[in-house]
Amino acid sequence: MIGIDSVVKTRWECVVLDEIRKELAALKEQGLYRSLRLVESEQGSRISIAGQELLLLCSNNYLGLANHPMLKEAACRAIERYGVGSGAARLVSGNMELHEALERRIARFKGTEAALLFNSGYSANTGIIPALVGRGDIVFSDRLNHASIVDGALLSRAKLVRYPHNDIGALRKLMMAHNSAGRKLLVTDGVFSMDGDIAYLQQLVAIKKEFGAMLMVDDAHGTGVLGKHGRGSAEFCGVSQDVDLHMGTLGKALGSFGAYVAGKSELIEYLVNTSRSFIFSTALPPAVCAAALAAIDLVDSDEGTVLREQLRRNTSLFREQLSTAGFDLSGSATQIVPIMVGEAPLAMEFTRMLLDEGYFVQGIRPPTVPAGTCRLRCTVMATHTEDDLAGAAAAITRVGRKLGVVQ
Ligand code: PMP
Repeated sequence: MIGIDSVVKTRWECVVLDEIRKELAALKEQGLYRSLRLVESEQGSRISIAGQELLLLCSNNYLGLANHPMLKEAACRAIERYGVGSGAARLVSGNMELHEALERRIARFKGTEAALLFNSGYSANTGIIPALVGRGDIVFSDRLNHASIVDGALLSRAKLVRYPHNDIGALRKLMMAHNSAGRKLLVTDGVFSMDGDIAYLQQLVAIKKEFGAMLMVDDAHGTGVLGKHGRGSAEFCGVSQDVDLHMGTLGKALGSFGAYVAGKSELIEYLVNTSRSFIFSTALPPAVCAAALAAIDLVDSDEGTVLREQLRRNTSLFREQLSTAGFDLSGSATQIVPIMVGEAPLAMEFTRMLLDEGYFVQGIRPPTVPAGTCRLRCTVMATHTEDDLAGAAAAITRVGRKLGVVQ
């Protein structure tokens, strides 16, 4: 016999599932439906999807470290010694030797007093921002900042003031208009994830000093890549000592997983005591920390310098070929090279046709980017060869012409 509870639940499920089905159908109609692609190989510059070998042009594994032998070996050794899981949050019993060793190494790498690990970049931004600001405070955030910064600011209940992208004049006016007594947090991506341009950190430092704000830089895409020693966008802009919170991720150029924030000791101590995503989440697995430690050592070595140089050379080559073909690459100044396409269906058709040619570049649509600015977000890797990139640029040009994106 069917109980009342299960009948009620079934009706409820019917209504909600019906709404969900309609929403999914609408997403499909607008070209905004997302589905997963299964990668069958390791994350090299070539990957395999559905039995097809593809040149990968949309990974954040910029230096090719995700499958570097040194990282793999470090992770395996850590598993042998410490096992797989950390078993608890850091403040309970999950705080292990490798967490602290990695934090010391990150602090040394970034030139700060201390550092703190988070379980991902998303979890870092949604944990750090609400710990530092709340009701009565203001977050000034670049309009193109990553979604996790926006979510962190919304979660904090501070007033969120979004300034036009990289527009220092507009930011200054907004700072003057909102010059109240509470805390002010100025936050920016170091490298903008969908446009590949770099924040004007020198000007932002001047503004933060003028208005007494804290400056936080999310360097998810600059860490390991920018600056003479790969320390990121602050090193590149010569303002390392003026950034109050250096946030970065370990899952992109550093080839592992997780995130960090580096800064003054008191700030780190404060986050340990107040940041909810730090306090209430199981610590990173030790092997992930061991791989990140090996990655930072590598980035700091001569091999790191060679990989960064290779990445820079590859990027200029690729950008030059695409510009010559007439593509609009937005403001790309880094290994992130967007090809502006326009509407979502066109971007997704571009991706599909490139897959047929043996190249994987993901089309990017709202809500990741504003409507009408859909793009192919190409990312260059140090491990691409010149022939790989020349072949890719030629295929992108062929498809771009067929689709009328370029003449
Ligand atoms: N910040 C920026 C600028 C990012 O691009 C990303 C990832 N795309 C994140 C934060 C989130 O990092 P994670 O993937 O480690 O959660």
